[in-house]
Amino acid sequence: MTQDSGLAGKAVIVTGGSRGIGRAIVERFAGDGADVTFFYRDNAAAADEVVAAARAAGWAVAAERVDVRDPAACAAAVERVAERCGRIDVLVNNAGVIRDNLLALLSDDDVRTVLETNVGGVFNVTRAVVPHMISRRSGRIVNIGSVAGEKGGRGQTNYAASKGAINAFTRSLAAELASRRITVNCVAPGVIETEMSAAVREQAPDEVRARILLRRFGTAQEVAHAVWFFASRYADYVTGQVLHVDGGFKME
Ligand code: NDP
Repeated sequence: MTQDSGLAGKAVIVTGGSRGIGRAIVERFAGDGADVTFFYRDNAAAADEVVAAARAAGWAVAAERVDVRDPAACAAAVERVAERCGRIDVLVNNAGVIRDNLLALLSDDDVRTVLETNVGGVFNVTRAVVPHMISRRSGRIVNIGSVAGEKGGRGQTNYAASKGAINAFTRSLAAELASRRITVNCVAPGVIETEMSAAVREQAPDEVRARILLRRFGTAQEVAHAVWFFASRYADYVTGQVLHVDGGFKME
């Protein structure tokens, strides 16, 4: 049986691709021959390193410094990709931030930053990309949610609200775009070894692991495999789904 994912030559945008899960997604797609452009916010050194490593591997990877909170910047960057590649086949909405604290202690900036990045950013990039997919009657959108979107967590009201919104956004957009042959799905990670989860993992590693059925943290690559599946030809008949890649964390 062939293992061809159908991703070779596809034009892919990954937001937040300079570090962590986003970087693993960029590399998973580029390794299959896709032409990948990733967005990042301000860590140019990390972005440069991803591009250099990709070039060394012979992959097609480009970086754009785009803050997903800025609708005009997102629209302009998406147009540049569409012009260069002639199409946009896959969008992965991965960029996200976390500012955990008890509700009473959250600052206005904590609330605004999390909602504007994790929800507003998804709207900004997706609204710019969708017309390109509609005109070709083809496309794959994969959103990165979180186990926090369904499982309550102390100190996570802003983050959980943002990720719950992504699940709802995924289902409604899937209904809206199905007739245009565009699928929309969501991958919801648990505790994954990246900078974002460092504080949680370092403060109480045994306590957190004890709440995960598989008793370990996940890797960025394990999340990237699930994203790859939704974008690949193996998921032609899958839309509107939220797949938890969390070692069973949601069930505990
Ligand atoms: P990291 O903090 O490791 O990386 C975040 C990435 O997003 C970076 O590339 C960062 O760019 C980019 N980014 C952040 N804000 C913006 C912005 N405003 N505009 C453009 N890019 C931005 O995060 P993870 O890899 O851990 O997380 C990736 C996704 O997975 C997020 O949506 C997160 O919520 C989700 N997730 C993560 C979990 C985990 O345990 N790690 C668990 C569940 C979900 P820069 O380098 O320039 O700052």
